[in-house]
Amino acid sequence: MGRTKFDFEGETVIVTGGSSGIGRAIALEFGRAGATVLNADIRATSKDVDAQTPTHEAIEADGGTAEFVETDVSDPDALAAVVERAEEIGVDGQNSTARRTSSPGVDVMVNNAGVFVREEMLDVSIDDFEFIHDINSKGVFCGCQVAGQAMKDRGEGGVIINTASISSTHAQKNQVPYDSTKGAIRMITRGAALEFAEHDVRVNAVAPGHIATEFGAGAEKKEQAVVADDLVKPIPLDRPGYPEDVAPAVLFLASDQAGYVTGETMYVDGGWQVF
Ligand code: NAD
Repeated sequence: MGRTKFDFEGETVIVTGGSSGIGRAIALEFGRAGATVLNADIRATSKDVDAQTPTHEAIEADGGTAEFVETDVSDPDALAAVVERAEEIGVDGQNSTARRTSSPGVDVMVNNAGVFVREEMLDVSIDDFEFIHDINSKGVFCGCQVAGQAMKDRGEGGVIINTASISSTHAQKNQVPYDSTKGAIRMITRGAALEFAEHDVRVNAVAPGHIATEFGAGAEKKEQAVVADDLVKPIPLDRPGYPEDVAPAVLFLASDQAGYVTGETMYVDGGWQVF
């Protein structure tokens, strides 16, 4: 089978929630592909017990360029500050070799940060509902808005990728708050794609299936996610998903190879949602 090597040399990529799990894998992969990576997370250190080195340090140890910007994605001002930081990096000269653009700024925005709540609908408090929507859907909306505005103002195009989920289209028991955020992300992606196309900004989403991360709970959740799902509905590719399965799909959607793809939600789920 063929191999594809992505080249993001000279480009600035923001990944929200890049300290852990899927976001960390995405950030590391962009770092390997030559991008300057800004990890925008509430914490620098990973929740993942298998990955103790902070993401930006791991990228730099690998010869790349990265920094951590403490960011709460539920705060629109914090997201705007990360986008501004992407512009400053270029002014500092650290990113002056930008391949496709003549001015500094964010080339790729990955709105990935997310949290999970599992609770029977009748027991969900309004506080819990607002908490998850603040981070998952408002965070993605505002991430698209600040990046889209910056890309429009810069006038050199750009790419936005949002992390959706199989929950964007498939309801699962005790997941109304979470599933409704992921459904919203799918439509934010489609709407933003429609509105930003005239600015040469493509907007797509990846929809991971059950991926072995620390998501939602402690370390034991990693294996449980896979086992529990195997019992309910088999995964056609017959193996668990890993963050490293999702990252290349994001790089593809961010690359010129996907230059005619926008508004798309790409499932990375081993075939889970096809039946
Ligand atoms: P994770 O818990 O390993 O990573 C989430 C990251 O987001 C963490 O680093 C965390 O610190 C960060 N974060 C949380 N709240 C934040 C906030 N307010 N501001 C900034 N950063 C914040 O989880 P993961 O599995 O890697 O999930 C990443 C994304 O993938 C989420 O959007 C999730 O909904 C989505 N997803 C995960 C799965 C799965 O099975 N793991 C499946 C489908 C979709």
